[in-house]
Amino acid sequence: TYRLNGKRALVTGGSRGIGAGIARRLAAEGADVAITYAASKNKADAIVREIEAAGRKGYAIQANAADADAQQAGVNAAIDALGGLDLLVHNAGVANMLPIGEGTMEDFRHQFGTNVEGVFAGTLAAASRISDGGGIVVIGSNASHWTPMPGFAVYNATKAAVALLVQGWARDLAPRGIRVNAVQPGPIDTDMNPADGDLAKAFMDRIPLGRYGTAEEIGALVAFLASDDASFITGARIDIDGGLSL
Ligand code: NDP
Repeated sequence: TYRLNGKRALVTGGSRGIGAGIARRLAAEGADVAITYAASKNKADAIVREIEAAGRKGYAIQANAADADAQQAGVNAAIDALGGLDLLVHNAGVANMLPIGEGTMEDFRHQFGTNVEGVFAGTLAAASRISDGGGIVVIGSNASHWTPMPGFAVYNATKAAVALLVQGWARDLAPRGIRVNAVQPGPIDTDMNPADGDLAKAFMDRIPLGRYGTAEEIGALVAFLASDDASFITGARIDIDGGLSL
């Protein structure tokens, strides 16, 4: 299927994990795709080659989401390269599970800087340039409404913050036909949360569907939300977690 033929998409943090899965799926459905990354230039370049192998244009741009100026410059460079923007996917994020007393102010600022300030700065740069009828998807987390174990407070708070940004932006941008939605994954097998890692030992037995999810499954949901199949969905927060947070 080519539901996104001719669309121009930017995925932040597209060099690895969920963002790479999203970038691949958007390209497979016909979109040109720019990705940003923080440090993994070689991995980002490899994703661009995959996008090009799918017959689409691909671009990799280094942009630290935690630095608002760099994030805005990166978003603007991506839109320039793509020749416009129809879909913005905020995926870049960090997670540090530190119980109160172990986390520092520096860690708090790092998590909020990347997961919240980066999302705000990127949307601010894109808002006037994204085409009417376009879309924004923010990768939040089921942790926006659910605390599985100690240590999640700051990460949860960042994901709750972006869930509310999504709700507000859905109202702000509805007059232009721009739909804004949050995708809220549970455990997805990536470097951040490997299916054979320590967190997985605690999670696996509690996931009703009995397994971790994949970046491909998140990519499929983002492609759906970006497509006309989701033309009446805005301001939604969709859990994609195998039932873990039920
Ligand atoms: P990974 O750590 O596997 O990959 C993170 C990606 O984000 C990389 O491409 C990385 O770039 C990029 N990134 C990280 N920090 C920055 C930064 N400061 N500036 C620009 N890019 C950055 O994470 P996941 O793929 O697992 O997670 C992606 C998103 O999904 C995050 O928002 C996360 O919170 C969310 N999520 C993940 C879950 C999971 O279980 N995996 C569950 C729920 C939500 P580089 O390669 O250059 O470092």
